[in-house]
Amino acid sequence: MATVTATAVQTAKNYIAGAWVAPDGKRTVERRNPANHDDVVGTVTMSTRDQARVAIEAARNALPAWRNTPPPVRGKILFKAWQLMTEQIDELAAILTREEGKTINESKGEILRSINVLEFMAGEGRRIIGETLPSELPKNLAYTLKQPLGVVAVITPWNFPICIPVWKIAPALITGNTVVFKPATITSFTGMALVKIFEQAGVPAGVLNMVVGSGGEVGDELIKHRDIKAISFTGSTEIGSKLYAEGAAGLKKVQCEMGGKNPIVVMEDADLDLAVASTVQGAFGSTGQRCTATSRAVVIDSIADEFVKRVKAAAEKLVVGDGSKPGVQMGPSVDQAQFNTVLEYLKIGKDEGAKLVLGGNKLTGGEYDKGMFVQPTIFDHVKTTMRLAQEEIFGPVLSVIRVKDYEEALRVANDCAYGLSSSIYTQDVSRFFDFAERVETGMTHVNSPTTGGEAHIPFGGMKGTGVGVREQGTVAIDFFTEIKAVYVDFTGKKRESNIY
Ligand code: NAP
Repeated sequence: MATVTATAVQTAKNYIAGAWVAPDGKRTVERRNPANHDDVVGTVTMSTRDQARVAIEAARNALPAWRNTPPPVRGKILFKAWQLMTEQIDELAAILTREEGKTINESKGEILRSINVLEFMAGEGRRIIGETLPSELPKNLAYTLKQPLGVVAVITPWNFPICIPVWKIAPALITGNTVVFKPATITSFTGMALVKIFEQAGVPAGVLNMVVGSGGEVGDELIKHRDIKAISFTGSTEIGSKLYAEGAAGLKKVQCEMGGKNPIVVMEDADLDLAVASTVQGAFGSTGQRCTATSRAVVIDSIADEFVKRVKAAAEKLVVGDGSKPGVQMGPSVDQAQFNTVLEYLKIGKDEGAKLVLGGNKLTGGEYDKGMFVQPTIFDHVKTTMRLAQEEIFGPVLSVIRVKDYEEALRVANDCAYGLSSSIYTQDVSRFFDFAERVETGMTHVNSPTTGGEAHIPFGGMKGTGVGVREQGTVAIDFFTEIKAVYVDFTGKKRESNIY
């Protein structure tokens, strides 16, 4: 069994047909700890398209037995995974922090969310509920069955490398599908640690397979292969929109959860302490590398000076550094490319004429020179037309947009191509119900941060963020199943009319 630890230098392996095997490609990439370049996490050899096909075949071979395994029995395996993940939370958190860079507390938070998803989906094994329906004909009835799709592909990003795979793999398995999982290349080792949990839990050989390698080759094969019946993707809008079109062309079921640019609306009657705390947590938590991160604060002009003053005071106290160290509240950017993107947006913000209130640069000196650290940054007087207000940055950057009243706040909140999450801070009941109805996001929060979600509640976005059925909750079961309608005639007679 391949092992993954939080300290050793690793060599990535694929998990195919119940065995850990070396990737078959030639190109190798090295993964270093984003908080400390001296710490080599390991090397990942890219798998080829051929090896992805071998994994798909393994999943196809495992399908008949798995789809015939009763769902409550499948549920017991997920419960075992739940138990193992609970027991191994510290070890998993260390692996995640070392490879992705988030703080240990954030890693544990992500794993706890995964544990909740496993618990919920294990229980779904006893509740894959169809409908019993009356018929228009006497002594007839109809009911529906939810059946597995077949072999499904799971393609995931690096920013929640445990939780997002879990919230796709768990519903896929409980409903009787077999899976080929492609983790983001830069979090391959966290992906391996996760698959080990499922292996130890007793998922049969071939039911869950993992192939490391590039999106352009392994990911592309998963999208195109005719034996893949569905694709569950989370990642950038750029990749997701192409993948959606290609999947649809192959008549596959596809769900894509993509980028975000989430607004927090702060009204004049808001509890300012709460609004400030949520903004700081939402904007700078996980280094802003969350799809649900708060990247726009839409604030009523009359309270904006005070709001900005307090957010700045809280943000400048944040301890930035190596997330594995006690007391650190914000880690590094995940890699050089993401770091460069954030620095580029800091320049764009300055060039666009937004008022820089805090940060605006990389952090240098001492341990900062060994990693990719950005100062928590606040731009004020941002206009909704600026790139700063429209494009996903995926870094610790908050844009404050000042507005005169609620209607303008709502207009600005909706003036964006993305539609993942939003939040409003107000004491006015009518206003928050109105906001919940009219805001164009798949999730919205009243007096709570834009971030987060619960295992049994649908997760996902609208507009440029999401296409296809939402994730988590029972809608995840709907995505991973085909509905079959069954008509039963117990008259024992030939039907007189054949109009149906
Ligand atoms: P990404 O570059 O789109 O990559 C996502 C996954 O797709 C990776 O496994 C990647 O493989 C793979 N991929 C890349 N090119 C592909 C292709 N041509 N065909 C098939 N697969 C391909 O996204 P990311 O940088 O990892 O993640 C950050 C993005 O995810 C942000 O935009 C964020 O908002 C979004 N996100 C959204 C949600 C949500 O629920 N809405 C949640 C989390 C993150 P490689 O790693 O090998 O390139």
